[in-house]
Amino acid sequence: MKTKPLERQAEAFSNGAARGAAYLQGLSDRSVDADTARLGQLDPGLPAEGMEVETVLELMETIGGEGTVASAGGRYFGYVVGGALPAASGARALLSAWDQVADSLTGPSVIKMEETALSWIVDLMQLPSGTSGAFTSGATMANMTLLVTARDTLLSRLGHPRGKGLFTAPKLRVVASAEIHATVLKSVRMAGLSSEDIEWVAVDEQGRLRADAMPLLDNRTIVLCQAGNVCTGASDPVGELAAMCRETGAWLHVDGAFGLWARTAEAISASLDGLEGADSWVVDAHKTLNTPYDAGIALCRHPEEMQASMSIGAQYLPATHPNPANRAPEFSRSARGAETWAALLSLGRKGVVDLVTGFHHHARRIAAELEKIGFLVPHDVHFNQVFATLPENEDACARIVAHVQASGEAWFGQAMWQGRKGFRISVSNWSTSDKDVDRLIEAIRRAKDELV
Ligand SMILES: *Cc1c(COP(=O)(O)O)cnc(C)c1O
Repeated sequence: MKTKPLERQAEAFSNGAARGAAYLQGLSDRSVDADTARLGQLDPGLPAEGMEVETVLELMETIGGEGTVASAGGRYFGYVVGGALPAASGARALLSAWDQVADSLTGPSVIKMEETALSWIVDLMQLPSGTSGAFTSGATMANMTLLVTARDTLLSRLGHPRGKGLFTAPKLRVVASAEIHATVLKSVRMAGLSSEDIEWVAVDEQGRLRADAMPLLDNRTIVLCQAGNVCTGASDPVGELAAMCRETGAWLHVDGAFGLWARTAEAISASLDGLEGADSWVVDAHKTLNTPYDAGIALCRHPEEMQASMSIGAQYLPATHPNPANRAPEFSRSARGAETWAALLSLGRKGVVDLVTGFHHHARRIAAELEKIGFLVPHDVHFNQVFATLPENEDACARIVAHVQASGEAWFGQAMWQGRKGFRISVSNWSTSDKDVDRLIEAIRRAKDELV
């Protein structure tokens, strides 16, 4: 064994990386579902004396490895979970050796990568130049960051400046799509706004907010819409909403956790025309872009407002250095944006478009194949999400889902959408191939034949 401390770390690092590489090489052949039978062995009791590093990694690899869900592989279609692009995965490994704190004084090069990635995303999404951004742990925190910014900005325009708190503040309204993601409601509450008093706006048969059902807006209103409905992939009419908000002084926020990426591909971006007119946007890198977890991005057209709401204000931090901690909730954090930088650099503009259109292509094929074998897909395939049901036998869907999960061939979950019970398939992994889709369809067909 090496004796110098960092040589020992380097040895452990290579050991972990080698085990990770072996894991990835076996992932395409193994069951997608986790084997949790031996998880108890992960708690041998905190030992009085420490274990050898090798032993720790061995335990992690064997028991921990079999207890993972193979969401990094191409046959996982659950929720909207992405895998990790090779460059992003390699970047994660390198970052873990660097262990930088994401700030320009403690990590100059990683901050340069993060700032560069943010500017590339503003460009790819065709957002207004000068849009401010920050990496967060996910869309939930990014939504919260921007809801706080929206709240503070509207209140200060109404003469109630930041710092005065909410107890004596004028009441703000929240108007939201009836199918807004559940986590956005949590973000609403975390921002001190009322999730009980939301003015819900009806959606159409694709799950899109109906602009003709919008209430009258004013300068006390935050409007929450989405790019990418988790069941149908459809986007709300953001352009129309942006015009309404601009006229009335309302704030338009767009949750585009996975769906904002549709903006990059001409074939499916039309519904996002006018997106640039919103006040704030959220997108995840860890979903559609396939960076490792956890990487969300908060984007705001009013950089000074975002900074005013998120600024730490500590005197000891020179204001001249870009410090993402002044644009997001966290202070010390990993340099997760460097993985997004690596992902984008390795894909290029064309690679991003190919990734996004590839997901759409697979999703369309899945919907068509499901209809061929008797399922109903009650929506158009707008992007990468497919909701399906059995019209005469909705209850069988849960059993079909359980059967496929248990087969290890593929993984996706049950869902309920617009009163129908069924399941939801998300194509979000860069490595999903036509063959993976064949196996998914075949597993569903077999389950249906056996159970229905
Ligand atoms: C996943 C998702 C979220 C939450 O994002 P996290 O990154 O998991 O915090 C919000 N909105 C939509 C539409 C999503 O798909």
